[in-house]
Amino acid sequence: MYHHIKKLMYTVNVGTPDPRFGNMLLEQFGGANGELAAAMQYSIQGLNCDDADRKDLLMDIGTEELSHLEVVGTLARMHLKPMKKDRDAAEVDPLIAIAGGGGVSLFNSMGDAWTADYLKITGELDVDLRSNIAAEARAKIVYERLINFCDDPGSKDALQFLMTREITHMKAFTAALESLGKAPFSVGKIPPTPVLVDQYFNDSTGEGDEGESDARGPWNQGGEWEMVEVPELRQGVENLESRDDERPGKKERAGSPVPKTRARRSA
Ligand code: MN
Ligand code: MN
Repeated sequence: MYHHIKKLMYTVNVGTPDPRFGNMLLEQFGGANGELAAAMQYSIQGLNCDDADRKDLLMDIGTEELSHLEVVGTLARMHLKPMKKDRDAAEVDPLIAIAGGGGVSLFNSMGDAWTADYLKITGELDVDLRSNIAAEARAKIVYERLINFCDDPGSKDALQFLMTREITHMKAFTAALESLGKAPFSVGKIPPTPVLVDQYFNDSTGEGDEGESDARGPWNQGGEWEMVEVPELRQGVENLESRDDERPGKKERAGSPVPKTRARRSA
């Protein structure tokens, strides 16, 4: 059950309206990382959730995002208002000015219609929580960029509030994911193939014009990692050799270190 209270979650004050900034704000209204997308993603995940405790979390945050939608929509409307009467302002966003009468609608800053394709809903709680952590990180960085392009102190104040809440949500989703007690990299029930899972394929090689070269780091060395050099080139060599093997009288060779799944893919 939803209930609306005639009060914004955060008071919005705008000094001088800036229609161009109002247009940018629409990214957080009807955009891919915007508040409607967040509200729908978490609420619909919540509808699908069999875990009562995490369902409560998803519904709490999903509902808060609807309140954010109201705040950012109010802020955008205040900035877009000059489009109602001022021709120069209307030229900033004709779609909003002519079709929308200077108000907000569910479009992003480029006028693309909001779409359910923005939502990441898999029905697997830990996978959904990972999507939500990433969604909050994207929302945070978009708010940060909006703040950096904003001159109005009142608008900045409201955006700082909204940006901060995204970090709060990120913390909550992260804690919820950890509370599931799943082993790291354990997703679903079918285990990955041993050996292959720890092989790092050095698929980008050579030296770049800016001095880029093969990097080593904890993403490809130490622990269980095994570095596999240029598997595609080795695969070509292996194919030639195996053609030789098919000739009568050829002796059996030792196994190749190139993984079989990889061989099948390019066969
Ligand atoms: Mn939000
Ligand atoms: Mn959020």
